[in-house]
Amino acid sequence: MRAIRLFGLPTDINSSFERGAAAGPAAIRAALWSERGNRASELGPEIGTDIAFADDGDLALTERTEQDDAAIRRHVVMLYEDGEVPLALGGDHAVSFPLVEAAATCFGPVTILHIDAHPDLYDDFDGNPRSHASPFARICEAGHAARLVQVGIRTLNRHCREQAARFGVEIVPMAGFTPGRVPVLDGPLYISIDLDGIDPSAAPGVAHPEPGGLTVRELLAVLHKQTAPIVGADIVELHPGRDVGGVTAILAAKLVRELAALIDRNGNQPTI
Ligand code: MN
Ligand code: MN
Repeated sequence: MRAIRLFGLPTDINSSFERGAAAGPAAIRAALWSERGNRASELGPEIGTDIAFADDGDLALTERTEQDDAAIRRHVVMLYEDGEVPLALGGDHAVSFPLVEAAATCFGPVTILHIDAHPDLYDDFDGNPRSHASPFARICEAGHAARLVQVGIRTLNRHCREQAARFGVEIVPMAGFTPGRVPVLDGPLYISIDLDGIDPSAAPGVAHPEPGGLTVRELLAVLHKQTAPIVGADIVELHPGRDVGGVTAILAAKLVRELAALIDRNGNQPTI
C-alpha cells in the first residue's frame, strides 16, 4: 500500500465574506495529534501504524493565486510520481482547483464526490473567477471531471442551478436525504469535503454556516460506501475563529482518519 501524504494549504485569499480558513490546517493538525483522541478509524485500521501515513506540514504559499496554484500542482504531481496519495487540508475551497487539476493531469478526468452546503459553481463571485465560490466551475470548464456528484447542497440559487445544468452536475437533494441516495462511484475518485456541508450544530467553525446539513453519521455512511480507488482528497473551510470548543477541528481530524482508512481499504491507485 502506498503512503498517504497529509499536507496543509494555509490560504484564504479567495474567501468571499470573511477570511480565517488559513488557520485551518494548524487547528486540524493539533486535533489530529492531540492525546484527547486516538489514531483509530471506524473502518478498523489506525493511521501511522496500520496505514502508511506521513504529515508533511504546510506548503509555503505566497498569497498570489497563480503562484500558489502552481506550487500546489507541483507538490501533488511529485506525490503521484512517487506513487503516493495526497490528502490536503484547507484553506478555503479555491485550493480544490489545483488539487483536482493535478489529479486529472496525471490520471485523466476524475470522478468527484463533493460534500458542501454550496455548489461552488459561480462563473465568478464578486469579480473573482478563482473565488472559493467557483472552483467546481473552473474544474468542469477545464474538463477535469468525468462526473461531479454534490452532496449536502442547500443554497442553490438560479445562477448556480443554471451552471449545474450546463456542466451536467449531479446534485443529491438534501430534502429527504438518506446516504442510500448517493451513488457508489467509479474511480479514479477524488473526494472534496467542505466542512459546511455538515450541519452547523456539528460543524460551527466555518465562514458560511447553513442550517439543515448532513449529520456526521450520514457523511460517514456516504464515504464508507465508496469502493473505488481514491486518487486524492481534501478537507477545507475550517475557520478556527468561529469554532466552538474546537469541535469542528476535532471533526476534521476524524475525517482525516476516516479518509485515510478509506483510501487504504479501496487500494489499487492507478499509476502515472
Ligand atoms: Mn461551502
Ligand atoms: Mn465550498
